[in-house]
Amino acid sequence: MNTANLIDPFGRHIDYVRISVTDRCDFRCTYCMDEDVTFLPRKDILSLEEIVTVAQTFIKMGSKKIRITGGEPLVRKNILWALDQISNTQGLEELTLTTNGSQLKKMSKDLFNAGVSRINVSLDTLKPEQFERMTRRDKFHQVIDGIEEMNRYAFRRNKINSVILKNQNDDEIVDLAKFALLRDMDISFIEEMPLGVITDHDRAAAYMSSDEVIRLLDAHLTLTPSALKTGGPTRYFDVEHHTGHIGVISPHSHNFCSTCNRVRLTAEGRLLLCLGNEHSMDLRPYLRVPAKHPFTLEDAIVKALALKPEKHHFNLNEEPQILRFMSATGG
Ligand code: SAM
Ligand code: SF4
Repeated sequence: MNTANLIDPFGRHIDYVRISVTDRCDFRCTYCMDEDVTFLPRKDILSLEEIVTVAQTFIKMGSKKIRITGGEPLVRKNILWALDQISNTQGLEELTLTTNGSQLKKMSKDLFNAGVSRINVSLDTLKPEQFERMTRRDKFHQVIDGIEEMNRYAFRRNKINSVILKNQNDDEIVDLAKFALLRDMDISFIEEMPLGVITDHDRAAAYMSSDEVIRLLDAHLTLTPSALKTGGPTRYFDVEHHTGHIGVISPHSHNFCSTCNRVRLTAEGRLLLCLGNEHSMDLRPYLRVPAKHPFTLEDAIVKALALKPEKHHFNLNEEPQILRFMSATGG
């Protein structure tokens, strides 16, 4: 097998897989889930062995990059074992992780030793009260300590991810950028996506476009479009006098579907071909009782890629058409 198998009907090479290892989380970010969210029954969640099997199958088929996410991936028991197995698979170039940072103080060293090469930490505010308002948890200092601990290890490059909501944290864009740049980290500002029904705020009213974010930053920092590409939807800018980059992820204002190189595995084993569409294939039956199926897991993955749609359509003024939350999706 080689990457020829991982090409979709629109000629895009799918060499990046994002794997959600749990839908559970120790935070309740207001844009991601409600306080009383219902999690999946444990029996429906893939075991760590099953997750490793899917990851290794994708790598064998030519995937070069795997990102582990969730929910909060670091609250999954024994996750370090799975990370170690995946990072040691021949052919993989990069194992990366997205986390809310709550466990980084105690786990950074183990993550580095398990072969994680880059970490994205979500941090939307530098004010403890606003942090509690946005995550519904009083863990600001724990996260900041975790980021400082992570930066003691030689990860290839680390990044902050900030979802910007108008009238909530849009006054902190410059401070967040400086926080990352002073630590030689990148930072991406993300437009909120209408994934799942939330009750905390009106997503359309809270919408802040990436162009507004860049205009604001331009008044304080000297930005020029960067050649940096990390194989994702982020558009990067170089920043004068800094090694870190500023990026924007703009699912609404700049459709990035034409260069989409990724698929997502949900915590229960559904391969999602697009974040903004329901096209998917359930891989769990191919993992749990393979003898019953005429197809192998590899065949199922090839068939699934044929379902990848050309693009997503998000409309903030309509009811969400995607009812699953980012946490269940592998954001
Ligand atoms: N718990 C980890 C974290 O927060 O980094 C990993 C999973 S989280 C779902 C991954 C990323 O999705 C985070 O950066 C989070 O801010 C982002 N996210 C969650 N819901 C979102 C939404 N509705 N729109 C845009 N980004 C969202
Ligand atoms: Fe948890 Fe991440 Fe969703 Fe926040 S964004 S609730 S940390 S999964």
